[in-house]
Amino acid sequence: MQLNELTITQARAGLDAKKFSSVDITKACLSAIKEKNKAINAVLTVCEAEALFEAEKADERIARGEKGMLLGIPYLAKDNYLTKGIKTTAASKILANYIAPYDATVIVKLRAAGAVLLGKTNLDEFAHGSSTENSAFGVTKNPHDLSKVSGGSSGGSAAAVAANMCVFALGSDTGGSIRCPASFCGVVGLKPTYGRASRFGIVAMTSSTDVPGPLTKTVADAAMVQQVISGHDRNDFTTADKAVDDYLAAIDKDISGMKIGLPDEFFIAGLNEKVKQNIEAAAETLEQKGAKIVKVSLPHTKYALPVYYIITPSEVSSNLGRHDGIRYGFSAQKEARDLTEVYFKSRGQGFGSETKRRIMLGTYVLSAGYYDAYYLRAQKVRTKIIEDFDAVFKKVDVLLTPSTPGPAFAIGGRKDPLSMYLEDIFTLSPSLAGLPAVSVPCGDVDGLPVGVQIIGKKFDESSVLRTAQYLD
Ligand code: GLN
Repeated sequence: MQLNELTITQARAGLDAKKFSSVDITKACLSAIKEKNKAINAVLTVCEAEALFEAEKADERIARGEKGMLLGIPYLAKDNYLTKGIKTTAASKILANYIAPYDATVIVKLRAAGAVLLGKTNLDEFAHGSSTENSAFGVTKNPHDLSKVSGGSSGGSAAAVAANMCVFALGSDTGGSIRCPASFCGVVGLKPTYGRASRFGIVAMTSSTDVPGPLTKTVADAAMVQQVISGHDRNDFTTADKAVDDYLAAIDKDISGMKIGLPDEFFIAGLNEKVKQNIEAAAETLEQKGAKIVKVSLPHTKYALPVYYIITPSEVSSNLGRHDGIRYGFSAQKEARDLTEVYFKSRGQGFGSETKRRIMLGTYVLSAGYYDAYYLRAQKVRTKIIEDFDAVFKKVDVLLTPSTPGPAFAIGGRKDPLSMYLEDIFTLSPSLAGLPAVSVPCGDVDGLPVGVQIIGKKFDESSVLRTAQYLD
């Protein structure tokens, strides 16, 4: 086994036993990136010198006897995490040369823990999408089949983990962006509870559902990364001031007596037959381990997609207002005759078409006269969706559902936006409700990996991860 193929658990054991150094693993990952990235296009920026420097520092800390789950472990971050001194593009032309003056809180935490940042990964522009085809810097291909998409929007992170370009990666999830690419690339992807980890320094998409989270090779690895990145942050008032569970200890407990719900509304026409069979098999495995499978209903599930695609563009249109061609990023000032033209030309040339679509939709539904009819109504239905989950979680501990309707689709295979939006049908409602959910690999469809999703109660990442551990 090569060092870049190691899981965090394996790398930790080897580092602590001094079998190899952090510099060794870092070099192995950097060579894997050099060798494979041309074909896959998962990584947008590599910070080789900085990574080797950080790895040396981690080795010194290990030599001094310091302990830490992620000390000396190399990782990649989605390119919507601000990284001081290293480019952050959000895969948009409008931020193509943007260098942030500070690190996102999650990056600060990982730095303190001694994890080694290798570089930044590709995504759909501003995290808008389910395939990474909306990147201004080219599509990320699926390492299992280069003619297929890697999923999105954290497609670069998922593909990089699957192709062993890093030991783990960071993604962000607004409506499925960690879970969809995890499903398509055959890795574990955890979307924590909204407010469990800080959004500070992550390029904002939908502030009411955005969360940072890990993409990893195993459930235990996801538990470790989530442990380190979770917690209250005074720079993000939506983070909870609540103790973080010991996730690693939690996943070792057994699941006997646990109640696992299968929601009727998630087994619908359009769901790939093999995916359905995989989930039935997963339910059986969990039942054999002592869990009880219960059929449940979440009646408002069918409204999640329309609600999401009203609320998300609304927040997107507001959050992207800051890209005016003046304060930072790309500017068309030289070719503009007046201030209005600076705005029009900078935004017109800087944003891609999906981003523009969302800005227009959001501006429309928020405008006077339409606000009550669309935005306000969507927020009311969102409450209904939340109440569905509240009711169901009185009866069961977690829910088991598909992550995606099928496996990775062909590059260019979802031409109209609505067919692309339908890829998120199973991940949107937990996002709207702010619940933790993980996608864990569960069998394949014609040789391509697919995941199952486990959704839990707010702040109960422990039960979600523990259930996933039994399917890992
Ligand atoms: N695919 C969804 C969208 O396009 C989710 C994106 C995300 O979670 N960032 O909005």
